[in-house]
Amino acid sequence: MGEIVELNSVIDGEPVTCACALGDLTEFESVPVDRRVMVIGGGITGITAAIDLGNAGYQVMMVERLPSVGGRMLQLSETFPTLDCAQCTLTPRTVESGQHPKVTLKTSCEVEELKGEPGDFTVTVRQKVTYVDWNKCTGCGTCIQKCPSKGISLFERDAGRMTAIYTLSPQAVPNKPFIDADRCRYLTRGKCGVCAKSCPVGAIDYNQQESFFEARVGAIIVATGFDIYDWKNKMPEYGGGKIPDVIDGLTMERYLSASGPTAGKIVRPSDGKEVKEIVFIQCVGSRNPELHKSYCSRVCCMYTAKHARLYKHKVHDGQVYVFYIDIRSTGKGYEQFIQQSVSEEEIIYIRGRAAKVFQNGDQITVQGADTLSGRKIEINADMVVLAAAMVPNEGAQELADILGIKCNDDGFFVEDNYKLSPIETGHQGIYIAGCCQGSKDIADSSAQGSAAASKVQVLLSSLRRQNQEAV
Ligand SMILES: Cc1cc2nc3c(=O)[nH]c(=O)nc-3n(C[C@H](O)[C@H](O)[C@H](O)COP(=O)(O)OP(=O)(O)OC[C@H]3O[C@@H](n4cnc5c(N)ncnc54)[C@H](O)[C@@H]3O)c2cc1C
Ligand code: SF4
Ligand code: SF4
Repeated sequence: MGEIVELNSVIDGEPVTCACALGDLTEFESVPVDRRVMVIGGGITGITAAIDLGNAGYQVMMVERLPSVGGRMLQLSETFPTLDCAQCTLTPRTVESGQHPKVTLKTSCEVEELKGEPGDFTVTVRQKVTYVDWNKCTGCGTCIQKCPSKGISLFERDAGRMTAIYTLSPQAVPNKPFIDADRCRYLTRGKCGVCAKSCPVGAIDYNQQESFFEARVGAIIVATGFDIYDWKNKMPEYGGGKIPDVIDGLTMERYLSASGPTAGKIVRPSDGKEVKEIVFIQCVGSRNPELHKSYCSRVCCMYTAKHARLYKHKVHDGQVYVFYIDIRSTGKGYEQFIQQSVSEEEIIYIRGRAAKVFQNGDQITVQGADTLSGRKIEINADMVVLAAAMVPNEGAQELADILGIKCNDDGFFVEDNYKLSPIETGHQGIYIAGCCQGSKDIADSSAQGSAAASKVQVLLSSLRRQNQEAV
């Protein structure tokens, strides 16, 4: 019996084009079920787990809900504490996951149902539509160049605009485009069709339908990562998303990125003017149990210092202010990184929460208090960057319900025992790793990805041994 079953490749008697194109399932099916693993989420955590397992001889299916893998790290400019280029560090890994003979990428996919037991789970996966037949698409990019519809880009956030057909990033893996149905003129109004006319291989398929398939696997690693706290709707005191020059840290990453929409120039979103005075506010939504999230997001002190330093590298005469409650820099080399920011880059740290941010003529005014001197502070700036809390990714609770695992009150997946078994869940055979378990940096995320891969191997080899002994 084939273990990968197309559940609805035919709808209403008509054959339906399956959006899944890449990832040869023959290889995946070629080994017994207890040598197959599913990794849900294709960020740095999931990629690390998948490559480790693949190198150990397991067949891995990586299920990613976006059209390409890489997760949030792909959006980062340079990374603390070493200031390495994020893309240069990550791209070899995304490419490896895409080319690894033992890793099958299933992008634009989400898990719908789970049956079975450790060692033999059956997972139903929903394959969403991309409106592009990736089996035909060569990734030439002609459609992207010709598309007349410009709008919000999932990837560039508020920093840049994108056509309605696009790849998530220039280095996307797989490097094939998809259509954003909400912005496509043909799919919303029935007018346009430019991409279909310009595609040299006829890959555009406006009638593509979603489909479902089943995969049998021995174990599952969940690595669905994080999102940014919805400060635009929940924090009117910081402009509620209505002041164009108030952005969040992830958008700042896109401004700082050499491959970003401004080629690394720090300009005001409102008028493209170079930013000469900039205010960073830490703990936006974090450590505020009364109104927002009670926990510390763990990376904001570090990435704010990184942003401040990278900004100063680009705008030498720029002035930087940072509002902070206290600095948490517990990783290896992190404290030195902070100290360098203060001493070498002349960044002014103000201890206290910023109370209010508002548009004031051409500039933005930030009001707060310096709790060390007891003085009220008011700064006029060109741009304000909010280090917004990290929260679990959308749909985490629904996925937990499907998998039979738990989320805590903040929505992060709950581990079996925080100290002794932080990767295991209450459901044997299902493991959690990376930011879906709690906010953390890249080093800790990759470490948990590798840890989860090891745990899977321990479980599956011990189940194999038990089965052999029983025979
Ligand atoms: C502004 C900012 C700057 C940062 N800078 C640094 C830095 O300089 N250095 C550093 O060490 N750390 C930094 N970090 C932290 C770093 O981004 C994270 O540690 C890292 O991205 C976590 O990786 P992850 O794979 O766990 O999650 P993610 O990167 O979020 O990846 C999760 C993946 O899972 C997918 N997914 C989600 N739900 C589902 C689902 N239901 N089904 C299938 N797939 C799903 C997502 O689409 C995504 O691709 C920064 C964070 C922020 C916010
Ligand atoms: S049909 Fe849609 S995606 Fe294609 S070119 Fe027109 S607007 Fe762009
Ligand atoms: S023009 Fe056709 S082949 Fe080229 S990237 Fe677009 S869909 Fe793919």
